[in-house]
Amino acid sequence: MTARQSIGFIGLGNMGAPMARSLARGGFHVLGQDLRAETVAALAGAEAGIEAAADLGDLGGTCGIVITMLPDAAAVRRVVLGESGQGGPARSLARSLARGSVVVDMSSSAPAATVALGAALRDLGIDLVDAPVSGGVPRARDGSLTIMAGGPAERIDSLAPVFACLGQVQRTGALGSGHAMKALNNYVSAAGLLAVCEALIIARRFGLDPKVANDVLKSSTGRNNTTDRKVEPFLLSRSFDSGFALALLRKDVGMARDLAAGLELDAPWLRACEDLLEQATRALGGAADHTEAFVFLERRLAGEAGEEPPS
Ligand code: NAD
Repeated sequence: MTARQSIGFIGLGNMGAPMARSLARGGFHVLGQDLRAETVAALAGAEAGIEAAADLGDLGGTCGIVITMLPDAAAVRRVVLGESGQGGPARSLARSLARGSVVVDMSSSAPAATVALGAALRDLGIDLVDAPVSGGVPRARDGSLTIMAGGPAERIDSLAPVFACLGQVQRTGALGSGHAMKALNNYVSAAGLLAVCEALIIARRFGLDPKVANDVLKSSTGRNNTTDRKVEPFLLSRSFDSGFALALLRKDVGMARDLAAGLELDAPWLRACEDLLEQATRALGGAADHTEAFVFLERRLAGEAGEEPPS
């Protein structure tokens, strides 16, 4: 029997944990790391094929492929280059990785930061691939994420068995293009969410049943990911537990705006969307689920009408 190939996986949160499980089920040996040691221990205890790495040096010294699934580009840079926190450069991942290794950043990171990180790693003989994902926790669980892969084409080819455990790859081009595309996708997704929230609040005020209103949207041209996958399970049920934090969505839309600004494009709809998400994040806190934008808009619209928001 051939030994399982080891993959390092850093960031075992809402998305990282189910992705690591998919890799273990796909036959890989996953060496995991997270700031929260208890998260790694729980996952390693529950899933055969997942083990806790002693530290980043242990992980980098053992694995030729390392996946990061961290909150943002700053966290990825800290972990990979060890420039601050994580015990400093002596414990950096990059210093423990062999030449010829690859880091696959599946987080939703800022494209410019990814290009800069790629240059720093290239000097050490390490490749970087950006491969952010779409589909949320449910599609992370069933291994059907959309993976937007940017970077050296032959590297992406070599990662095919890894990506096959996680979802379907869509190649986007040069390093950073996956992250640019992810930011743009989440802008479009956020715009759809905010529009559906407002429409349902207006519909309810008019006397329409919001469930009926969403059924009509779902079978009409207003249909989108929010109408199909978010309204009933998270908004109308008022569970607001999709597993995607408001701060992360706000970050993504901010990155889309930075991308536009860097290209000297002032995109008014994108600006409006970011401003609204910023207000929602201030009002509810970044740890709120992103579907709680519905609650923010309920309060906001009720406030404008001088009435009590729904409890
Ligand atoms: P999360 O907060 O649930 O998980 C992030 C994990 O990273 C946490 O367990 C945290 O302890 C760990 N972490 C943070 N800094 C670290 C460090 N320096 N070293 C080691 N571990 C560290 O976030 P998530 O929802 O899993 O999202 C992860 C990434 O995926 C983000 O970039 C997010 O934007 C993106 N994303 C999330 C979703 C979703 O539906 N949740 C969907 C697509 C993409």
